Amino acid sequence: MEAHNLFKEAGSFATIADMLLDRLNRPIRDLRISVTDRCNFRCGYCMPKDKYGRDHQFLKRKELLTFEEIEKIARVFVELGVVKIRLTGGEPLVRNDLETLIRRLKQIDGLEDLSLTTNASLLSSERAAALREAGIQRINISLDALDARTFGQLNGVGYPVEDVLSGVENASRAGFEQIKVNMVVQRGKNEASILPMLEYFIGKDVVLRFIEYMDVGNSNAWHSKDVFTSRQIKSLIESRYPIEALDANYRGEVARRWKLSGLPMEFGIISSVSEPFCGECSRARLSAIGEVYTCLFADSGFDLRSLLRAPEAEPSLFQSIQQLWQVREDRYSELRSIQGSARQKVEMSYIGG
Ligand code: SAM
Ligand code: SF4
Ligand code: SF4
Repeated sequence: MEAHNLFKEAGSFATIADMLLDRLNRPIRDLRISVTDRCNFRCGYCMPKDKYGRDHQFLKRKELLTFEEIEKIARVFVELGVVKIRLTGGEPLVRNDLETLIRRLKQIDGLEDLSLTTNASLLSSERAAALREAGIQRINISLDALDARTFGQLNGVGYPVEDVLSGVENASRAGFEQIKVNMVVQRGKNEASILPMLEYFIGKDVVLRFIEYMDVGNSNAWHSKDVFTSRQIKSLIESRYPIEALDANYRGEVARRWKLSGLPMEFGIISSVSEPFCGECSRARLSAIGEVYTCLFADSGFDLRSLLRAPEAEPSLFQSIQQLWQVREDRYSELRSIQGSARQKVEMSYIGG
């Protein structure tokens, strides 16, 4: 990373020397917090039905971090350089009283951005307003197809697409700073939905993002042939519409941004597999039971909950996260083509997507 970029990134840090960097010179800026491993959907790429059946053992309530514990950990991350926090899961809206956690996080000095990723199945207009009021600034909604049959198959439980679309409308009315709709594209399953999705969201003040299907975890039996690449997504869109490139909103933005020429429709394409962006990855993840992961494709995390529940924990919490980041050298996606994707990896619903 070039020095002048680091100065720009340094923000509230007095000098580069104060900024926490990993072994590849990447700062820590972004934290995903998984608040639950449970979900009411069974998307095949995340929690396939055959692996997450009735007898699946989800985490027990007492194993989960309490809101107080999450807040404590989040404060340490912010002290170390995190400016953005995203709540996720599993499905974050199934965790009871999530708004109380949001209110606590919102009060952390130095936190610039608090957002949420949801499947929107529980996003009634009251819930959307409550989340906004509690302090969620931006919301990402996952939606992989518009036609009822495809969507019902993809979510694994036959969930009606109209209810998710109502969730998007409820979010629009609640006045979030930004709404993104994320579509994971799987070859042979939903590439035919790319253009209908774009067309549906024209003029709706939503940024649509197409995401390559990734080999997260082991239960989805991912194969590279199932990836509909960003290049193919772009060609498909260009076969129907002229498009224009937009500048990145900030350095290290994972999506390449585009718009449909002459139409009010911005979209992004996230090439996690075909063009990895590990060099810019400044993200840590906190699982629902308090393990920190420094890569989405890790096989194990660092247990902060034990530290937190031990007396006199706080100084060591700070030092532990600091040291963990200082030795970080993850760049799984860049190495995937050399090392393959067969090794043991933590599941997305557990680590937080
Ligand atoms: N349940 C919420 C939802 O679906 O929005 C939040 C958690 S989910 C794990 C977060 C995001 O990860 C979703 O947008 C989902 O589509 C994405 N995701 C899960 N598995 C994926 C995979 N194998 N490849 C790409 N994206 C994936
Ligand atoms: Fe649930 Fe989200 Fe995973 Fe789908 S992607 S199974 S909605 S956690
Ligand atoms: Fe970051 Fe790991 Fe993804 Fe690379 S593979 S972008 S290091 S989470």
